[in-house]
Amino acid sequence: MNTYDYIIVGAGSAGCVLANRLSEDDRTSVLLLEAGGSDRHTFIRMPAAFSLPMNDTRFNWFYSSEPESGLSDRTLACPRGKVLGGSSSINGMVYVRGHPRDFDRWRDSGAEGWSHADVLPYFRKAERALFADDDDPYRGKDGLLTVTRGRRDNPLYDAFLRATEQAGHAQSNDLNGYQQEGFGDLEMTIVNGTRCSTARAYLAPAFQRSNLTVIPHAYVERVAFAGKRATGVHCRRARGSRVDFTARREVLLATGAIGSPQLLLLSGVGPETELSTHQIAPVHLLAGVGQNLMDHLEIYLQQACSIKSVSLNKWLHPVGKAIIGAQWLLTRSGLGSTNHFEVGGFVRSTREVPWPDIQFHFLPAAVAYDGTNPASVGGYQVHVGPMLSPSRGEVRLRSADPSKHPVIRFNYMSHPEDWQVFRSAIRLAREIFAEPAFDKFREAELSPGSSIDSDAKIDAFVRNNAVSAYHPCGTCRMGCSPDAVVDPSCRVYGIENLRVVDASVFPHITNGNLNAPTIMLAEKIADAIKGQQLPAQPEPHYPHPESRRRQRPGSSFTREAK
Ligand SMILES: Cc1cc2nc3c(=O)[nH]c(=O)nc-3n(C[C@H](O)[C@H](O)[C@H](O)COP(=O)(O)OP(=O)(O)OC[C@H]3O[C@@H](n4cnc5c(N)ncnc54)[C@H](O)[C@@H]3O)c2cc1C
Repeated sequence: MNTYDYIIVGAGSAGCVLANRLSEDDRTSVLLLEAGGSDRHTFIRMPAAFSLPMNDTRFNWFYSSEPESGLSDRTLACPRGKVLGGSSSINGMVYVRGHPRDFDRWRDSGAEGWSHADVLPYFRKAERALFADDDDPYRGKDGLLTVTRGRRDNPLYDAFLRATEQAGHAQSNDLNGYQQEGFGDLEMTIVNGTRCSTARAYLAPAFQRSNLTVIPHAYVERVAFAGKRATGVHCRRARGSRVDFTARREVLLATGAIGSPQLLLLSGVGPETELSTHQIAPVHLLAGVGQNLMDHLEIYLQQACSIKSVSLNKWLHPVGKAIIGAQWLLTRSGLGSTNHFEVGGFVRSTREVPWPDIQFHFLPAAVAYDGTNPASVGGYQVHVGPMLSPSRGEVRLRSADPSKHPVIRFNYMSHPEDWQVFRSAIRLAREIFAEPAFDKFREAELSPGSSIDSDAKIDAFVRNNAVSAYHPCGTCRMGCSPDAVVDPSCRVYGIENLRVVDASVFPHITNGNLNAPTIMLAEKIADAIKGQQLPAQPEPHYPHPESRRRQRPGSSFTREAK
């Protein structure tokens, strides 16, 4: 009764994709186990409410980093979805694939079969881009994941894009197509005014299949082995009962960048010292498990807005939110139906950098991502920070008790390059906000504040204020070097019938948000499990421009060039 062909652990971004694709063949039985519960909640469904589920213990694991020495020993929040849909049910819904060269870099570092040409067909397979032309070779029209663009109703969006142009930056009509570099519309995983998580896009259409069993509130504590073959999982259900499940073919871990290394370690797969420290009997020694942890950091550069009716801050009070909520409940439209990250872009910190390493999200409000600290005056802001940081951290066990959160140490800002890129990012953002397009909106800089101008002051601001952009990845790295945990088909080295399929296998972090590449990855591995693969699709992409930016005295680029 408890035996299935495939057992998928974790119903997050990747797990839901796997569950749908593997259960397409009705002769294949699939079990999907998820520690969290239902995603049927208004605050998950309503895009503008995205800061609420991440503040709710029902939907978030509430992990936290260790004190980070590069950030004044602060511990940073590391939210992860604990609900059907996983982090795609609590994320900001920004849809960014990453730069084509991110994936060529994956291939070059040993992830054979993961170049941009290899992954493009799977981005296209996943998506249903409502705005795209039918003959667009970069975009998908028939996938399960709906991708939309905002209506840009607020005049600050256009002011921002005009300002980026005035500052000499390239403009792109598709940041997920031919040209990532530059500024344009950010896309969002929203369908008919509601969040399009993977639970919604992939699980809901498969839910009624008789060969798919979905068990929520099922926490997998260990993988079961016969020698070096994974045979199933040991699971704790709600109210503490324990149950074992057996896999005829494979166990697929899709428990995310924090959960997957923790589960492998608890199961006896990992570095020798780590297993012996916690007296866990080794099944297979793999030095890379839990290593190579990467993330994105960002700060908010906030500007006061002179036209109070324009900034969304005027809605950030209980009555305003109730009005937005009521309109959304009745019509699925209005300010509740967007994530408000409608424009943004990608730039290179210096001309020498081969592809963009800084991302901008523009928001027509001044407020922290998690909904806290709204500015008392109207404002607007960019979230900006380094995207390709060389800093690396680790996930380790705190205890052999599966209920204890692991030790998460990012080592943020531990490389000198991080500081240079962050300074560039902040100065580039200031240049954009200083352009004429913002003249009629601009008042004082709220944060960091115009007095924070020297390198030393900017560094101190970053140290005391940078926050995670919530993109941990890389802790079960894919590749063929000794520190790799999985091979390019996501099979765990040294173990039969066990794969890891989630953001933990990224060899390098990508330049952008991670939901889209995680979904792409799961689509591609689902095909690999079925013994099929879409043909590679080599398409050109925007080249490295020698200097597209205007040479202006005092601009960050001119300073860099000196
Ligand atoms: C607050 C927040 C905002 C974000 N904003 C964006 C954004 O705007 N755009 C974007 O692209 N990305 C964003 N991200 C990142 C993106 O959502 C994640 O990188 C992506 O969803 C990771 O997918 P995954 O499949 O690796 O893991 P997850 O989606 O986290 O899935 C892991 C699943 O496994 C379950 N699980 C873990 N351990 C166990 C266990 N032992 N037993 C059973 N189940 C278990 C978890 O509960 C979870 O459901 C955000 C993330 C967060 C948290």
